[in-house]
Amino acid sequence: MDTLCVVPARATTRGEDRTPLEGSYDVLICGASFAGLAVARELTGSGADVLIVDRYEIGERQTSACGIPTEWLRTAGLLEAERQRFDSLLIHTPHGSRRYELPWTFSTFDYRELCALLWRDCDARFETAKVNGRAAAANGDGAIAVDTDRGVLSAPLVVDALGWRRMLASGDGFQPPDAPLSRGLEVHPDGSSENLEIWIDRRYVPAGYGWSFPARDELRIGVGSFDPRFHVRKTTELLAEDLERDRVRYQGNWIPHKLRQATEGGVFFAGDSAGHCLPLTAEGIRTALYFGSALGRELRGVHEGRQGRDEAAARYAGFHDSHEWKFRWMLRVQRLVPRIPPRLLGPLIRLLGNKRFVDWSFAHYLRIAPPPERSADEQDRPGDEQQPYFASSQSSPTPISTSSGGSSR
Ligand SMILES: Cc1cc2nc3c(=O)[nH]c(=O)nc-3n(C[C@H](O)[C@H](O)[C@H](O)COP(=O)(O)OP(=O)(O)OC[C@H]3O[C@@H](n4cnc5c(N)ncnc54)[C@H](O)[C@@H]3O)c2cc1C
Repeated sequence: MDTLCVVPARATTRGEDRTPLEGSYDVLICGASFAGLAVARELTGSGADVLIVDRYEIGERQTSACGIPTEWLRTAGLLEAERQRFDSLLIHTPHGSRRYELPWTFSTFDYRELCALLWRDCDARFETAKVNGRAAAANGDGAIAVDTDRGVLSAPLVVDALGWRRMLASGDGFQPPDAPLSRGLEVHPDGSSENLEIWIDRRYVPAGYGWSFPARDELRIGVGSFDPRFHVRKTTELLAEDLERDRVRYQGNWIPHKLRQATEGGVFFAGDSAGHCLPLTAEGIRTALYFGSALGRELRGVHEGRQGRDEAAARYAGFHDSHEWKFRWMLRVQRLVPRIPPRLLGPLIRLLGNKRFVDWSFAHYLRIAPPPERSADEQDRPGDEQQPYFASSQSSPTPISTSSGGSSR
């Protein structure tokens, strides 16, 4: 099946085409990117009436450089969206460069195609609508009401997968530049390269890093700053200029680097809205898929009568909290890196390039949000070379299924 044909090609409807939209659903998912689609996918075949809304069409606005461990693409059934695969990482500092041979491969993918693949496995309905926040509930049946630019929608189970703004929270004053947010900006020139590259260089950013993620016929060149006050536009352009690449097709966003509550006021949060993006690396795609899938399974349990909303909230919050110490450690390292004197960076990078250390640290890093376990079917699937992602695999506390059991559309 051509994956692209399942995503509407038209741009987001505007003006008079944006007809009123009101109603009640079993599950309302706000945000149709990685986290929201992962929740919806996990609900497929449950019989729940699921509505997913986003201000843009599915896959219309790329939100990242779209890099992810290859094993995640493979076991989540998303490998078709892969653009390029890397088995090493080239790290540059002002005092030298070092190539790290990775114990597992990393891939870049096409955002639109990946969203299409996720959506192909969903049996939810989709509407474009801009979420404004919570609305007063109409009756006392426990439903949560959400105000959108097309009307009020309600459901007993509501998910905020809207990204860092966390629109459906009660308003905890989480605004840049004072909030724990990093900022990232990239350009997407045409071109190709064999190298996945990172720059730790204060010429580009005092606290953070620059990157070049090739994706077959396009490069994603950007700079991320852990300090929200540092503006990354000029240095993103400087990096592109240094690489003799065009400064075209900009995309950027705030990136939360601290976990937030998993549930609040009856609403469930997943992905950037829950602070699921990893500090230090700003890797937030696989974590959005990982926590989104876990949440989807809990909501499925509610719809199928195996648990109540409060129990699902407690279980999901417990799962989220059990990862807190890992995020805390990543944040500690994030805060430490800018304090290292620049002249020590080169020797340190060389020292840490020791194969045993790289294998050990990358294996632990992957285990923060490990890939879904492969089904027996997938283990036998021909045509894609199978490789263990690390020697002694450790399963997640809530195993992630590789795809939902319901029908494709
Ligand atoms: C420049 C940059 C590069 C990055 N590169 C990588 C990378 O290579 N790998 C990686 O793992 N992570 C990367 N990240 C981080 C990653 O993009 C995020 O962590 C990830 O997108 C989080 O997924 P999400 O589904 O929670 O939120 P998002 O992907 O941000 O999706 C939120 C969705 O909500 C919708 N939305 C927002 N507000 C509203 C509203 N009011 N009404 C309706 N809809 C709304 C948006 O349209 C969007 O579809 C990068 C981030 C940046 C900024």
